[in-house]
Amino acid sequence: MEILKTKREIRAVVKKAKESKRRIGFVPTMGYLHKGHLALIQNSMEDGCFTVVSIFVNPLQFGPSEDFQRYPRDIERDISILEKAKVDAVFLPSDDEMYPAGHLTVVSVPNLSGKFEGAIRPGHFTGVCTIVAKLFNIVQPHRAYFGWKDAQQLVVIRRMVKDLDFDISVIGVQTVREPDGLAASSRNVYLSEDQRRRALVLSRALQEIRQMVEYNKIIDAEVLISRGREIIKSEQVELQYLEAVELENFEIIKNIRKNTGIIGAIKVDKVRLIDNIIWD
Ligand code: AMP
Repeated sequence: MEILKTKREIRAVVKKAKESKRRIGFVPTMGYLHKGHLALIQNSMEDGCFTVVSIFVNPLQFGPSEDFQRYPRDIERDISILEKAKVDAVFLPSDDEMYPAGHLTVVSVPNLSGKFEGAIRPGHFTGVCTIVAKLFNIVQPHRAYFGWKDAQQLVVIRRMVKDLDFDISVIGVQTVREPDGLAASSRNVYLSEDQRRRALVLSRALQEIRQMVEYNKIIDAEVLISRGREIIKSEQVELQYLEAVELENFEIIKNIRKNTGIIGAIKVDKVRLIDNIIWD
């Protein structure tokens, strides 16, 4: 596995792989890898791609009062996980490599970026789109893999790729969960045992909604959402939102159908967690 720290180096490695007719699969991450990340990597490998993983904790997508400084990092552990997974190349740029002095340009996807996650985290998706657009230009993959765990991020990126004519297929990968149902996330390490127990209420509410839709054939969003909110209120957590939305534009909908989802966010004390179920 090649470990590259500069744009020049990663471009050269990708160029060589393309010369030997490999297709490039790209998995952008912020590291502290878990089985959710591994599912994206596995998808790229199974598609036969020369697989490039980036690890970069992007300062631009964190708000001033967010957890950029204390975001979990363990590069050595990540590298050994990636080696075992037989990834072809890892891109590990420094902050200066990505944002040298004088860097000004940002990429934003208005409207979509202002809802839900974007309303609670102003500027977050502009940070995400800017770094992903830069990484896409540096790595120039054929395919890029993103998790449905961050559903709004996936949809925003797909919009950006379409609008800015990136010649890249964006592949959405299903959310990977812990055995108890909690969606795998780097931020799960913040949770104490008691917080983790409380955090489970979100996946439990979503799971119950899924049953109501798929077994009881209830598609009325108002009924589903009020049941979900009731479940979440039974636990000591702060509900930030729970809504049924159209996946394409994140507009609130009245009935569940194809290409819709239920998205939720809670705070367990200071730890924010998001999760969703989608029908795509
Ligand atoms: P992050 O390192 O948290 O920025 O995530 C990098 C990528 O992994 C994003 O595309 C996420 O959506 C994806 N991801 C994170 N957690 C999961 C999960 N539990 N299941 C599937 N994909 C995930």
